[in-house]
Amino acid sequence: LVARMRPFGTTIFAEMSALAVRTGAVNLGQGFPDTDGPPEMLAAAAEALRTGHNQYPPGPGIAALRAAIAAHQRRFWNLEYDPDGEIVVTAGATEAIAASILALCEPGDEVICFEPYYDSYAASIALAGAVRRPVTLRPAADGRYAVDPAELRAAFGPRTRLVLLNSPHNPTGKVFTADELALVAELCREHDAYAVTDEVYEHLVYIDAAAPHVPLATLPGMRERTLRISSAGKTFSCTGWKVGWVSGPRPLVSAVLRVKQFLTFVNAGPLQPAVAVALALPDAYFADLRDGMQQRRDQLVAGLTDAGFRVFVPEGTYFVTADVAPLGGRDGVEFCRSLPERCGVVAVPTQVFYDDPEAGRRLVRFAFCKRPEVLTEAVGRLRLLA
Ligand code: PMP
Ligand code: GLN
Repeated sequence: LVARMRPFGTTIFAEMSALAVRTGAVNLGQGFPDTDGPPEMLAAAAEALRTGHNQYPPGPGIAALRAAIAAHQRRFWNLEYDPDGEIVVTAGATEAIAASILALCEPGDEVICFEPYYDSYAASIALAGAVRRPVTLRPAADGRYAVDPAELRAAFGPRTRLVLLNSPHNPTGKVFTADELALVAELCREHDAYAVTDEVYEHLVYIDAAAPHVPLATLPGMRERTLRISSAGKTFSCTGWKVGWVSGPRPLVSAVLRVKQFLTFVNAGPLQPAVAVALALPDAYFADLRDGMQQRRDQLVAGLTDAGFRVFVPEGTYFVTADVAPLGGRDGVEFCRSLPERCGVVAVPTQVFYDDPEAGRRLVRFAFCKRPEVLTEAVGRLRLLA
């Protein structure tokens, strides 16, 4: 194995899901819903499979899907992208992230990301031979994770090539505030840096969030320097489909396409018309998704609080983080490894998403994208810890 990949072992998600299977624990580790997405979408996929949409689709994705992606971004975010040249379909957001970094970074270029960061960021940065510059999100007195503006400013320098911004943020559930976004944009403009935005949780922002979801590309001077990434997995509860996309100005998207051709060439043909159908669902679908998930959030937050955790209430995503110290835990990895045996639940230690594990030493993440009865069962088991 090449040196640059040696630091990366099995992903924590695979490790923890395997642990859940082995122990029969309730799996609140890896984030995937336990119900299927909209029936219209599933029917469209079945129909496409039956009616001969089974050969290589076009490289950037089928026209109907690119048109639907453009229409969806116009409808929700007032962003205009030309389906012909400014949108590329990818194998999930994961490929979009990798292809964007590989397309934009020379070896030695610096990529600013916010830790705890989604694990594929570090690996994609390493594959490109680039260097990550993490800025740490820390829980403030109000329980919200916050960016230190001075730390963010100090991270920018002559080698900064791009900022990788994930909002709503996995694993913290943070939604970046207007001030934080404005500072990111200001620094990108000042340092002539690109932005790659991971917005896979764009539709999961809860009613009590300090700010609504605002794509960074909508800020002044940002559209021309931003690659905006999303995916069907979270919005349409089909994480196994791996249909994602990247939108941006023509020169950047064409650079991504150049790389993408040789990573996967094209993506799952019969799933593309189905995702096009899903993206065109009425607004009520998206509102119901959010409201349903918010109820689950509230259920799990209450359960974790009862069980004795210090809980950081998430404003978005389908994850909640908690400090295990009030339960006598000193280390999240140890805590999560023993949790199935202690009470039959699986969670993910978030320290593995920090360059400085000390910053997240005692933090663990639970996923609440599960049926209410599953959450009830999990909460009942977690009470055994008290
Ligand atoms: N980014 C973030 C922040 C995620 O949480 C996920 C899914 N876990 C992804 C990217 C990957 O998305 P996909 O499954 O579409 O590749
Ligand atoms: N995005 C999901 C999570 O954060 C799953 C990631 C994965 O399995 N690679 O749990």
